Parts: sequence; structure tokens; C-alpha cells
Amino acid sequence: MLVGVPKEIKTDENRVGLIPSSVRELVHHGHKVLVETHAGYGIGLDDDQYVAAGAEIADTAGEIFRRADMIVMVKEPQAVECEMLREGQILFTYLHLAPDLPQTTALVESGCIAIAYETVTSARGGLPLLAPMSEVAGRMAIQAGAHCLEKAQGGSGTLLGGVPGVPAGNVVVIGGGVVGTNAARMAMGLEAKVTVIDRNLERLYELDLQFGPMLNTIYSTVDAIEEHVLQADLVVGAVLVPGAAAPKLVTREHVAKMRRGAVLVDVAIDQGGCFETSKPTTHREPTYLIDDVVHYCVANMPGGVARTSTFALNNATLPFVLALADKGGRQALGEDRHLLNGLNVHRGEVTYKAVADAHGLAF
Ligand code: NAD
Repeated sequence: MLVGVPKEIKTDENRVGLIPSSVRELVHHGHKVLVETHAGYGIGLDDDQYVAAGAEIADTAGEIFRRADMIVMVKEPQAVECEMLREGQILFTYLHLAPDLPQTTALVESGCIAIAYETVTSARGGLPLLAPMSEVAGRMAIQAGAHCLEKAQGGSGTLLGGVPGVPAGNVVVIGGGVVGTNAARMAMGLEAKVTVIDRNLERLYELDLQFGPMLNTIYSTVDAIEEHVLQADLVVGAVLVPGAAAPKLVTREHVAKMRRGAVLVDVAIDQGGCFETSKPTTHREPTYLIDDVVHYCVANMPGGVARTSTFALNNATLPFVLALADKGGRQALGEDRHLLNGLNVHRGEVTYKAVADAHGLAF
């Protein structure tokens, strides 16, 4: 199979669908890979590394869309890319079609076979191609939060780990899933005092077993959230209620009573945010102040560490890319119901119920 990797064209996107080692795997399996020139340039992956891995370099995205049997990307295809997709061509990338009617219509009209990273499932019940980005965002939340605590960023001037003779900072993580666990782990690594609040008792048991007395685990109630948030130097919002907007767990009144220079990092902002005062920000302008509390609400946190994110994503996508290339779309999808769960659009029809429902389309 000929696999194509265009350069991402969405604003500020530096990630790339395949890294050179993934290209080498595909070539090792007998496939050809066509990579657009400079596709990995933004994250230090140069064309000669792709050539050494066995790829051919294309000058334009047009050549890739014209020749490839399967297109592997990161972000959803932009309008100009949708126009280049062909009947029967496989597209494997993040799609997020439910809130995006124009893209859904364009994919349907192209006749392509569109498989969305975000709806591929795993035998353990998770979303294996979303998890790496949650790991990145969770770890980054502490790095970003620690930076925001510095005076120059509007923070209280607190060093999370303290020093001998001076207490460490208080980090409160609301939601102990993938994001929350990774945030807690990083905060413990910095020797902060760390509390995770979750409403799933089993999850709290698991966290307690995993981290022992280093981690304070608390059952989520209005009372518990209020008590811990008001004492916090850094609060990370990491809740998810599947299929729903994030609940507003920290209110405007809480923010008004928080310590001056405390920091809120709302990772759940892509689901509307779990702090009442949150609004989406960008890497260019990541923070704003309300009542002297620093808010960091970047909707695409992994984009800020695009190199790590690309490598993490490739680790998760490569087995599926290889299966699709080795077996072809029909057989690969037919043999793996978890990959089949990723199928959102197939040759002119929407094949994912939530997307069809969102747009009132036949399913
Ligand atoms: P997850 O499902 O692994 O974990 C969510 C946790 O929230 C679960 O343990 C759940 O029990 C808990 N929860 C739900 N309601 C709660 C409540 N009322 N109180 C306390 N805990 C509660 O999800 P995840 O992968 O960790 O993702 C968390 C959020 O981060 C999601 O909204 C996701 O979309 C978002 N995210 C954002 C970025 C970004 O760049 N901003 C990147 C990755 C993920």
C-alpha cells in the first residue's frame, strides 16, 4: 500500500502523522510511504531522516492526496484537504465530527473511508488513541502551573517543591483519570503536597494502591472541593463526564476566596471547562487573571509540546496503521471491532451513530 503523510496546515499545528521510525516499520512490511516536504520540520524531523527511513518526499500535498491509498494525519482535514480526498481512499486522523457539519458533509461527499482516532476503542474499554494526549496534557498541567506560580506570570511566587525549611505548595487535582493521574505523578515528582479528588471510589482505591501515602485521595463532594480548593496553590481541572459538558465544580465565589496568586489549570476546557470562570485560551496567550487568580485554559495543550505528543501518538497509532496497510481497509476493519469503532464515514455514509445523531443524518 502507498501511505501518504501531508504536512499539517491547521494554524500552529506542528505535529505530524508518522515519524521516521514508523515509516521504517511500514517500509519493513513492504509498503511505500510518501511524506510531504518539511512535514516534520517544526519538531526537528527533517526530510533526510524520512528518506533514510525509506520514505519518498513529495513537493506538494496535492501529490500525496492524488497518489496515496491511505492518508495518515493528526488534525481533522481542512476544507482544501477534504476537496482532495478520493473515493475509497482511507483517512486515519483525529476528526471530531459531531460539532462539525461542514467537515462531515465534505467527507461524505468525497466517498473516502474516514477512521477517527478519537473513537477507536480498546479491549480494556478505554480510548487508546486519545489516552496519549491526556497523558501529555496531565503532565504538562503541572509544568504550566508551576510556571504560572512565578511572580512574573501573576502567580504568588511559590516554588511547588519548597526548599528545606519552607513548606511545599498544595496541588489539588480534580478528576483522577488519565489526565489527573499524570498530573498527580508530576506534582509528586516535584515534591509538592498533592491531593486527588474523584467521585469514582474505585479509582481512588487504585490511586491509593499505586502511590501510597505520597498521595492524598479525597471523595468528590461540594464540601471537599471547596475545602481543598481554598487551600490550594495550584488546582488542575481534569474531570470528564462522557458525552456531556464538564460540570462547573469550582464556582465564581470559590475563585473570589482563593489565595492571591493561586493558579487554576483547566485541562477540561475542551469540554467547556470545570471552573465557572474558565474560557479557552491559546499557547500564544495562555493565561488571564480573575480576582488575582491565574487561569490557564489552553484548549490544545499537547500542541505546545508537539514533538513529545507526536512520538506518543505514533506509539498508539502505529499498530492500527500497520494493520490497515497490511490487510487493506475492508479486512482490517472486519477483523478488529475496536478499529471498526473508529469508522465514522464510509464511502458516502456516516457510520458513527453519535455523529449521525448530531447532524440529524441517516444512520
Ligand atoms: P478520564 O475519563 O480518564 O478521567 C476523568 C475523571 O473525572 C474520571 O476518573 C471521573 O471519575 C472523574 N470525574 C467525573 N466527574 C467528577 C466529579 N464531579 N468530581 C471529581 N471527579 C470527577 O478523562 P481524561 O482522559 O483524564 O480527560 C480529562 C479531561 O481532559 C477531558 O475533558 C479531556 O477532554 C480533557 N483533555 C484536554 C486536553 C487539552 O489539551 N486541554 C488534552 C487532553 C485531554
